[in-house]
Amino acid sequence: MKNIAVIGAGTMGNGIAHTFAQFNYKIHLIDISEASLEKGIANIAKNLDRMVAKEKISEEEKTKTLANITTFNSIKNGAENVDLVIEAATENAVLKAKIFKELDEVCLENTILATNTSSISITQIAAVTKRPDKVIGMHFMNPVPIMKLVEIIRGYNTSDEITNTIVELSKKIEKIPVEVNDYPGFVANRILMPMINESVETLYNGVAGVEEIDTVMKLGMAHPMGPLQLADFIGLDVCLSILKVMYDGFKNPKYAPCPLLVNMVNAGKLGIKSGEGFYDYSESRKAEKVAKMFV
Ligand code: NAD
Repeated sequence: MKNIAVIGAGTMGNGIAHTFAQFNYKIHLIDISEASLEKGIANIAKNLDRMVAKEKISEEEKTKTLANITTFNSIKNGAENVDLVIEAATENAVLKAKIFKELDEVCLENTILATNTSSISITQIAAVTKRPDKVIGMHFMNPVPIMKLVEIIRGYNTSDEITNTIVELSKKIEKIPVEVNDYPGFVANRILMPMINESVETLYNGVAGVEEIDTVMKLGMAHPMGPLQLADFIGLDVCLSILKVMYDGFKNPKYAPCPLLVNMVNAGKLGIKSGEGFYDYSESRKAEKVAKMFV
């Protein structure tokens, strides 16, 4: 396996491209938005610069990593000759179905199709292709170059052979793969999202304030970051959409999103990406908050 297409140059896509390119895989980074491609490459370069400054990699490795990435603005051109595709486009079931249908038509017969989805069923995505045995979840964590875990999600029809190939590939880029089955939220979000939702509920019920809730979880449970801050980092819209998938999938009220979370998303308070969530990330407060984050 040498040639990999990554679809989506956003937060996750550029991190995935960076990581594989650093291990000398040839990456086709595909995005429909030229601005996203430019921003994605700039972000990779910035992160590599940081690694050079910290003496984790050399200047030559940085140059080589960037040279391993080629950008494309269409799936047809970028995915036709690769061994593996890792889809990291926007979290939307209709969009992912469209992308996988096209990939199935464009890609070689043996190309493995992976998705980095946080919550959408792998089985459902695989069902739009004629190769459901070769469709698998490869759920990286943010920021990808740093976080070790890859949750490997087997769809209902994913073969043992494809699962083993992806497990071995994850080890080659020095990640730690954990194999799980395809049920709503998989493992990571099935456990994380109820904790975040309960933190919002605790705030909503007036038990304590934002900083108090986060401080209890940081200092009391040794979490590196409080759950409300983490929600801001993930994006409140993303948290809400994952909770909805679990609520729909299990029909269990314990996954029902807290009304405060719904209200904040409706009000456009999405966390760090919109400048405000549970915390204020406007320029004046940013430095102060980031400094406090890892208390
Ligand atoms: P993002 O919004 O930062 O990036 C998505 C990118 O997909 C954008 O650049 C957009 O232009 C591109 N895109 C949209 N439609 C496309 C298409 N048809 N073809 C090619 N590119 C297209 O999103 P993200 O946070 O990087 O999330 C990507 C995926 O990773 C989602 O499935 C998300 O659930 C998952 N994920 C996110 C995180 C996280 O912390 N952000 C963590 C794990 C998994």
